[in-house]
Amino acid sequence: MNVGIAGAGIIGRLLAWHLLEKGHQVTLFDKDPVDSGSAAAYTAAGMLTPYSEAETAEPRVFDLGIASLPLWPQLIKQLGADVHYRTGGTLVVTHRQDQGEFNRFSTTIHQKLNAMQGQFSLLERTGINELEPELSDHFHQALYMPEEAWLCCCCLMPALGDALMARKVAWHSNTEVTDVCAGEISVKARSGTRSYHFDHVVDCRGMGAKPQMDGLRGVRGELLWVRAPEVNIKRLVRLMHPRYRLYVVPRRDDLYLIGATQIESEDYREITVRSSLELLSAAYSLHSGFAEARIVDAKVNCRPALPDNQPKLFWQEGLLRVNGLFRHGYLMGPALAQESVALLEQGSNYRSSFSGLIDYDNVETVITGAA
Ligand SMILES: Cc1cc2nc3c(=O)[nH]c(=O)nc-3n(C[C@H](O)[C@H](O)[C@H](O)COP(=O)(O)OP(=O)(O)OC[C@H]3O[C@@H](n4cnc5c(N)ncnc54)[C@H](O)[C@@H]3O)c2cc1C
Repeated sequence: MNVGIAGAGIIGRLLAWHLLEKGHQVTLFDKDPVDSGSAAAYTAAGMLTPYSEAETAEPRVFDLGIASLPLWPQLIKQLGADVHYRTGGTLVVTHRQDQGEFNRFSTTIHQKLNAMQGQFSLLERTGINELEPELSDHFHQALYMPEEAWLCCCCLMPALGDALMARKVAWHSNTEVTDVCAGEISVKARSGTRSYHFDHVVDCRGMGAKPQMDGLRGVRGELLWVRAPEVNIKRLVRLMHPRYRLYVVPRRDDLYLIGATQIESEDYREITVRSSLELLSAAYSLHSGFAEARIVDAKVNCRPALPDNQPKLFWQEGLLRVNGLFRHGYLMGPALAQESVALLEQGSNYRSSFSGLIDYDNVETVITGAA
């Protein structure tokens, strides 16, 4: 197949990779350069955490996340690049006064993941001390999810870009797509627009697809990067709090990502004072070593979400739209890309094992709300 992909964010790149693996020809279009840009994929914390996200996420997100977990290390190995990828799991903790929050979280996880009891366990102070000694003074209980992992998106995106270029994908960078329809991608050109024709076209523009997808909305997320040599945390940590839920993602060189807000707004402006205060106060309450940390960056972006906050593949002959990755683009990306390839190869004969993932022959009506 000769496939054209509009949008080279995380799902566009993963899809291109899987299509090339299957021997197809791929052309990518993106408004940004190959190794940088405004994709939500560059802002993400890179958490691959289906178990802890299961509290609020739907079963489809969980299933795609579980299917993707083992695919990440395989992909990173194939890339052969220096991508910071870590396993070691997540610790979910709470302050004593917020025990109710922790109990609610723990009960929901136990109810939703009943069949997977081996994938999480309740730790007391000694258990916490064995894994993260610097947290054991503050926290007397934690829920531990050992299978969860995380990666550095700012290493992965350029590494995937380089690997795709090396495999001879045709890449139209700095090229704004103006329209995507069956078999055709139109882009802005010096003399108006120019169209390219393919066997199949895939729309992976995330929020950029909004003009053609009425139901799509952006959900603002703010994330702080701090350098904290006085903190030594090796695993993902989530703090349950009635108002400021927080995660801390350890990176190399004493860097920690502290995030993230989730605000129903398509506001891409800088982080607010309120969000900074909330994130930093919660981080300081988690570990006092954050007091002397240096703030090295503050990132803001909007997550592309459909009304039910679940991903969807809208398919018709010649056109596939992949969108609604919301806060789980990395978590679900590899499995979503595999599903997309199977759908492109088999068309309406393909039946996904992920219930409700594919919408057949409704590309225009469902997403615009017409009819
Ligand atoms: C603060 C924050 C933290 C997050 N943390 C995590 C996390 O820990 N784990 C996780 O799994 N997910 C996380 N996410 C979610 C994740 O970033 C998104 O789900 C994911 O990036 C969506 O992927 P996408 O490829 O659909 O869109 P994007 O990554 O936004 O990519 C869209 C691409 O399309 C291009 N494009 C758009 N319009 C056009 C146009 N007209 N012409 C040409 N190109 C165009 C853009 O340049 C971009 O490259 C986080 C998001 C935020 C904001």
